[in-house]
Amino acid sequence: MIIVMHHEATPAEIENVIAAVEAKGWQTHCSSKSGQTTIGLQGDGQPLDSFHVGLMPGVLETMAIDQKYRLGSRTFRPEDTTFTIGQVTVGGDQLAVIAGPCSVESREQLMETAHAVKAAGATFLRGGAFKPRSSPYSFQGLGEKGLKLLAEAREATGLPIVTEVMSPDLVPLVSIYADVLQIGARNMQNFNLLNAVGQAHKPVLLKRGMSATIEDLLMSAEYILAHGNNQVMLCERGIRTFDNKYTRNTFDVMAISLLKEITHLPVIADPSHAIGVRHHVGPVTLAGIAAGADGLIIEAHPDPDKAFSDGDQSLTLPQFEVLMTQAKVMAEAMGKRV
Ligand code: PEP
Ligand code: MN
Repeated sequence: MIIVMHHEATPAEIENVIAAVEAKGWQTHCSSKSGQTTIGLQGDGQPLDSFHVGLMPGVLETMAIDQKYRLGSRTFRPEDTTFTIGQVTVGGDQLAVIAGPCSVESREQLMETAHAVKAAGATFLRGGAFKPRSSPYSFQGLGEKGLKLLAEAREATGLPIVTEVMSPDLVPLVSIYADVLQIGARNMQNFNLLNAVGQAHKPVLLKRGMSATIEDLLMSAEYILAHGNNQVMLCERGIRTFDNKYTRNTFDVMAISLLKEITHLPVIADPSHAIGVRHHVGPVTLAGIAAGADGLIIEAHPDPDKAFSDGDQSLTLPQFEVLMTQAKVMAEAMGKRV
């Protein structure tokens, strides 16, 4: 159930409603916008009489939620969620542009990329220090050394850092260096990890699992939101379909438009992992913006053919610069700025 309070409800009336439902064993989450408070209920409390709750002083209306996801739903919070990381506000009218290499490989590689993507218009630097690889024989990332290089690059460019955390025990370490904790597609339903990043109170970029439904993605976001961490970005990064000869995944462009309708959380498009082919990253990027994405995450590398991971889909730095000029035009068409 969601309880919507009157604009004029007093703090005492709000407290009174919270106390009454908590006394029935429910946990509450409050959201306030323009002076109006919404109280979301969570947990396994005793049944509530919505008629009785609706008559309590200060209550405007009660709503039963039929979706499985609650805190991420527009029913709970009709307006877009925005939050500010460094100088960038995500979810508003500025397109967040997260760019950088798939993996942090060396100081030179990272610094060159960081300066180039910043000059081209990126607002965040990405780079994996801990890499989830399909093969145990592939490059696994530089670990903490990679995190330290990312922090150096932030120091040099001012770009906040987005980097992946692969297990709950690594959340404290990665949180020291990262501005945004990335949950990779392969870990979207690692519930212990979701609980750990929920408790970390750092912004989270939650990638859609490659065979996850939209509802699965939203349910995973609930794990993070339920800890009171509201700074969650959802990421469409392509799903597995039947063609893997020409494309790595299938970019579910509809998911972006749909998510924007049913959830208040910002949605980020990842064209790189979706298509997996450098030459086609541009058109997919523009499609993501056209579908209403709040941001992009794009892989770029000074010498993609020599990249330790995901070279096939990584843009050269000049290609990234060109794409940003096109992205600006598309963003403007969608009422956003880069
Ligand atoms: C990545 O961002 O490099 C990555 C591993 O992404 P995904 O989890 O979407 O495959
Ligand atoms: Mn990658």
